[in-house]
Amino acid sequence: MSTSFSLSGRKALVTGANTGIGQAIALALAAAGAEVTCAGRRSCSETVAAIEAAGGRATSLTLDLADPMAARDVFAGTGHSLLVNNAGIIRRGDSVDFTEDDWDAVMDVNLKALFFTTQAFARDLLARGEGGAVVNIASMLSFQGGIRVPSYTAAKHGVAGITKILANEWAAKGINVNAIAPGYIATNNTKALREDPDRSAAILDRIPAGHWGAPEDIAGTAVFLCSPAARYVHGAVIPVDGGWLAR
Ligand code: NAP
Repeated sequence: MSTSFSLSGRKALVTGANTGIGQAIALALAAAGAEVTCAGRRSCSETVAAIEAAGGRATSLTLDLADPMAARDVFAGTGHSLLVNNAGIIRRGDSVDFTEDDWDAVMDVNLKALFFTTQAFARDLLARGEGGAVVNIASMLSFQGGIRVPSYTAAKHGVAGITKILANEWAAKGINVNAIAPGYIATNNTKALREDPDRSAAILDRIPAGHWGAPEDIAGTAVFLCSPAARYVHGAVIPVDGGWLAR
């Protein structure tokens, strides 16, 4: 049995790799030996430069997942065997006033695009008869309800479900499908929460670790889930949350 954490010789695609958690994951996968395609609706040149400066290999790919089918032709013939579905957006509003636009925009990027990007990835892998790994970025709101983020909560519960069904269908074909559920991480996604003194204090008070997470705190689990060491891990939604769910 291999317990290697090395990603040497593997090619990974990370969505939303220009900033935040996606950028930290792209850097960590490259440090573990993978060649990384850094995909974003904006240029990922900063991430690519950081990877290259550290001696790794990476390229930037423009991929706007507001079109959930945008990745349909991205994988054929490119040799990717690792996919991290990280791109995501959040829209906040009281459920009683929530708009169809805020519902559809979040569901399209966070759930529909995640599914169809993964489908395109797996079609190529299965056609090649190769194994691989998919890591979906879920959320505490894959388990809990949250407040004023109905489409985000629905999408992230969906991410947990999609992770499990794809694991059921593909585990025996050598594709590991798992998810990471980050706790409260200091990124653009949580800027509004961190700037709200009441919500910020309430969140901090519940985190056993006593502080918000950094994007780098998520990256090690992503490397593990992409690596041979996670060979028998299928359909898991792993919290990386400073202990939040233990409270
Ligand atoms: P972030 O800094 O806002 O990063 C989100 C990433 O997704 C950015 O690269 C963003 O690109 C990209 N993205 C958004 N819409 C896209 C589109 N249409 N096409 C392609 N890329 C798109 O926030 P983050 O916290 O790192 O979020 C990363 C993932 O972690 C998300 O799935 C989020 O839901 C999840 N998450 C975050 C936390 C947290 O506490 N931060 C907790 C749980 C889960 P732009 O830079 O162009 O916007």
